[in-house]
Amino acid sequence: MSKLSIGGHVDQLDPIAEARAREATLSQFFLGDPQGWKGPKVAFVGGAAALRAAAVSAGVDLYVHAPYVLNVATSNNRIRIPSRKLLQQTVDMAAEIGARGVIVHGGHVLKTDDPQLGFDNWRKCVERLDMRVPLLIENTAGGDNAMARRLERIDRLWDAISDTEYADRVGFCLDTCHAHAGGEQLVGLVDRVLAITGRIDLVHANDSRDAFDSGADRHANVGDGKISPDDVLAVVREASAPVVVETPGGAEGKPPTSPGCASTSMTDTGQRCTWAPSSENDPRAAPPNDANIEDARLVQTGGDSAALVYRGTAYGDAATRPLLVPCRSVYVHVGGAALACISRRPGDPATGPEAAVA
Ligand SMILES: [Zn+2]
Repeated sequence: MSKLSIGGHVDQLDPIAEARAREATLSQFFLGDPQGWKGPKVAFVGGAAALRAAAVSAGVDLYVHAPYVLNVATSNNRIRIPSRKLLQQTVDMAAEIGARGVIVHGGHVLKTDDPQLGFDNWRKCVERLDMRVPLLIENTAGGDNAMARRLERIDRLWDAISDTEYADRVGFCLDTCHAHAGGEQLVGLVDRVLAITGRIDLVHANDSRDAFDSGADRHANVGDGKISPDDVLAVVREASAPVVVETPGGAEGKPPTSPGCASTSMTDTGQRCTWAPSSENDPRAAPPNDANIEDARLVQTGGDSAALVYRGTAYGDAATRPLLVPCRSVYVHVGGAALACISRRPGDPATGPEAAVA
């Protein structure tokens, strides 16, 4: 069992502070305008070198999401050529900050194009790109002529790029919202993806506001959308990859609203929340204090943090005191009863629920 590395898609101004606010071990962010062509820039005070150093000393892994306007697959020269340039600039700057990867959407060709055009364009892009950091191609929710919406297309995409010289620098980012809205069932999806790509480098753990195969890309907090939380967690567990949550809300999050937690009240007291049992007979009043987790499943997010339900116990301070849970972090409830947190509090050993997930 290994530790689950998890974090959110955060504001680029200070991804380290954002990670700290969530007690997360990674941050994903944009470099510059996600909708613009201007080229990447580092918003962090002190620039790339300072961000790199801060990430190392904080133990936070950085992931860069490439701008949405990028489409290296398209047959439209006026988009494809600047896309390649912008992607290279993004990869270069990601290397400067020491990022673990650059996430880029699979893109699409024009409605009437033969999709093979798009796969050929991807191959050329990969051949020419100086991949100083791994490039992680993400599945997308929409587009009838998308390169990475359906598995059949992802298969052809991987075929196209797999015999390029640096194909091992190209990885895969699996987004659960996009898979669901794109028309791929989450159950067993990790195995089906691995059969094609041989790797999943990152999971985007998001719920979807829209129906299966709707083609719409609207993320929701896990448990608030149309995807079974169990299915999201199954992907997280089976993929064994770092997780980014790209869901609405900030570091403050919100208390879980799943049935087992309905009567829980949480008060933000700065870095932590005090969890208050609803009555003396509430089983949540007496959480045991050792970490002993089994059967973990994701049920809820607070803001852009994820939550797990599991049988077992974790982070109870003492049997008779209310459990303290960090507010700006990942919530869980234990056996439908107590609340806990799967991410580490400062100073806590890296054991417990984190270790039980992956
Ligand atoms: Zn995503």
